[in-house]
Amino acid sequence: MFRGASFERRLDVSTSPYTMIRGEDFFSSTLSYLESKGVEFQWECSSVEVSKNTIHADGQTSTFDAVVDAAFEATTARAMMWQSFAGVWVSSHQPIFDPGTALLMDIHESSAEAPVSFLYILPTSERTALVEHTTFSPSPMAKGYHLDRCFEWLSRNHRDEFQLGATEYGAIPMGLRSMPSPAIYAVGSTAGAVRPATGYAFVRAHEQARQVAGQILSQGCQSNTPYPRWLTCADSLFLTALRNAPERGREIMERLLSQARGDALVAFLSGDVTVRDALSVWLSVPKCTMLRSLLRV
Ligand SMILES: Cc1cc2nc3c(=O)[nH]c(=O)nc-3n(C[C@H](O)[C@H](O)[C@H](O)COP(=O)(O)OP(=O)(O)OC[C@H]3O[C@@H](n4cnc5c(N)ncnc54)[C@H](O)[C@@H]3O)c2cc1C
Repeated sequence: MFRGASFERRLDVSTSPYTMIRGEDFFSSTLSYLESKGVEFQWECSSVEVSKNTIHADGQTSTFDAVVDAAFEATTARAMMWQSFAGVWVSSHQPIFDPGTALLMDIHESSAEAPVSFLYILPTSERTALVEHTTFSPSPMAKGYHLDRCFEWLSRNHRDEFQLGATEYGAIPMGLRSMPSPAIYAVGSTAGAVRPATGYAFVRAHEQARQVAGQILSQGCQSNTPYPRWLTCADSLFLTALRNAPERGREIMERLLSQARGDALVAFLSGDVTVRDALSVWLSVPKCTMLRSLLRV
């Protein structure tokens, strides 16, 4: 479901279901699986340098048939915009959530510091949900800023029927440009897995990992372009418009979410989109507003 000042829209996403993976579950099961296969890990290295066949870590050099570089440090990244978010797990004695419906974006007012601002509710049962607030902004917003908006929403909609649980926070660079050396296999943000306009990365990073594994096995070179160039260029225009005219962020997002054809919108957000579907989504954006924002008029 998407919601804005003057619309509420439900889309059937059964063909592209949303999957929730909790980070700690993913890492604990994946790391134990790899250890059971004989993989050795070296943690907390103070310095790491990666080249085609070697890794230098804390003064020690290890040589391999191939090296995959997945190193990335978001806090030092340079980006056109930032997607920052914080959320809180909520539980209730009463059935207050609908586990069949996720509220993916409840669009809020734009501001100079946060052109796009929305709340996100992901129920995991009738009594438990993740309530999260997200912004697209020139610099990441603080965790407390996001959590305050989650608490406001909860008290407005559910008064005191809920208990607060664990919180989470993250900041993802949007419109990052740092491509790895072609001599090295790379996956993740450093290899362009983060979609500029949405900040989504997980699915693409998993695909890259599978591709790189295949390339290593066939001793091929990495030839991976995570997103087509036309899509990243269009995403960059969207981010430029938000940076130039932050106060118009809400209008652009609301028109896109309320007017775009449903199936095209779902494909567009997933990043797995044809030119035709992307065009139909772009046509729903207010053209004058977009043009004026790009030209700063
Ligand atoms: C709470 C939370 C929720 C999220 N939800 C989603 C979501 O729903 N969908 C989605 O797509 N994304 C989501 N993200 C974002 C997603 O986690 C990141 O975009 C993704 O992890 C980036 O993957 P990565 O492998 O490039 O970087 P990371 O997962 O950050 O891994 C990079 C690793 O490199 C290491 N490193 C850094 N520098 C060096 C160095 N010099 N040498 C060696 N290692 C180094 C770091 O310690 C780190 O372990 C979320 C993030 C958070 C925090």
